[in-house]
Amino acid sequence: MSAADDLARSEALSPNDLGAFWMPFTPNRSFKKNPRLIARAKDMYYYTPDGRAVMDGTAGLWCCNAGHAREPIVKAIQRQAADLDFAPTFQFAHPQAFTLATELALMAPEGLEHVFFANSGSEGVDTALKIALAYHNVTGNGSRTRLIGRERGYHGVGFGGISVGGIVTNRKHYGGLLGGVDHLPHTYDREKQAFTIGEPEWGGHLADELERIVALHDASTIAAVIVEPMAGSTGVLPAPKGYLKRLREICDKHGILLIFDEVITAFGRLGYATAAERYGVTPDIMTFAKGVTSGTVPMGGVIVSDRIHDAFMKGPDHAIELFHGYTYTAHPLAVAAGLATLEVYRGEGLFERAREFEAHFAEAAMSLKGLPVVADIRVVGLAAAVDLHPRQGAPGALGYEVMERAFHHHDIMVRVTADTIALSPPLIVKPSEIDALFETLKRLLGEF
Ligand code: PMP
Repeated sequence: MSAADDLARSEALSPNDLGAFWMPFTPNRSFKKNPRLIARAKDMYYYTPDGRAVMDGTAGLWCCNAGHAREPIVKAIQRQAADLDFAPTFQFAHPQAFTLATELALMAPEGLEHVFFANSGSEGVDTALKIALAYHNVTGNGSRTRLIGRERGYHGVGFGGISVGGIVTNRKHYGGLLGGVDHLPHTYDREKQAFTIGEPEWGGHLADELERIVALHDASTIAAVIVEPMAGSTGVLPAPKGYLKRLREICDKHGILLIFDEVITAFGRLGYATAAERYGVTPDIMTFAKGVTSGTVPMGGVIVSDRIHDAFMKGPDHAIELFHGYTYTAHPLAVAAGLATLEVYRGEGLFERAREFEAHFAEAAMSLKGLPVVADIRVVGLAAAVDLHPRQGAPGALGYEVMERAFHHHDIMVRVTADTIALSPPLIVKPSEIDALFETLKRLLGEF
């Protein structure tokens, strides 16, 4: 397929042709008036149907950490499709699924040793919540059913995920959600944390709110706490210093499982294989997705501790099994993509590279400070968020316009949620590309 073919095809798309695809998390009417179409991708760039290069400032949706269309990953997927297109993992398995699970367990902090595969972050989260509940159930603590999430948390779109999640718009249309869920307060305070690089100094004490929730409900009713070590979707909010360690201590004290949702943070975004490694705090369950295959084939899942796994494997009844799983659990194409992706990460030292360029990235991001539209900037690892002052009476309108103009007129892809711009380039980004990305954004924001 040539660029000319892409162009011909996209030009042939009339407004009617755009009707059938109901796009996720998108104001469909606005999009379809002026669509942003992407026809191909290579390394750091997307290409429009007419061949215009657009720098990928967001690694797709925080997932293409190795860059786009990387040859070893492409080849592995192609080979796998020809060799074994599908194999069930209910009562059968293909060998590479075990290999990938072993590699992921080796990559995760010591103590997280067993992998359950799903197909997305949302499925990973629901899997984590279900394993937490089932663990307590099979160990004789069936009264522990309550789940604790956090305000401004994003844990995908399953009913479990939106219930523990803390984003009002994602919850409000969907009825009662899961019962028995409580939320910790979020940890962002603009006055106390403005223009922070890395983990904020202020806010670690907010972990103690968990003690208040425990006192309210009694520990014997609480199954698990789930947090993102760095909340990405709600604007790059890293946990304040000491926060995760304190959560760990309180969970240990009360027999509560700690779940880290590492769908964004695993695979190098913060300069380490996992955020747990960066912060030196090991959860009982960790979710992953996105970067595991560098976005090429859908995959997600959880990595759990021996203690949790053993509760099922060595329990009183040899037949204890987890009544959970997906047709596409450990799909051969995803597994092949995952193995090849991990090899690219290792071979190119991409996690270390992200760590090495973190300071440069932060400095480039902070160069936007002082622009009249900029209200705050937060940076950690190779992730940055720029909060804009919303337009009077029209929250989100400015952010949307910035994203549109960035794509159509400035050749960069940025992600916006309301009036917050997020940047998270592929980890192969060069320092000169980091500079170009932020200089372009500076020019663009200067237009407002
Ligand atoms: N958890 C977190 C922390 C996420 O950031 C996301 C996606 N951005 C999800 C879960 C959901 O992942 P998915 O869209 O693959 O279902």
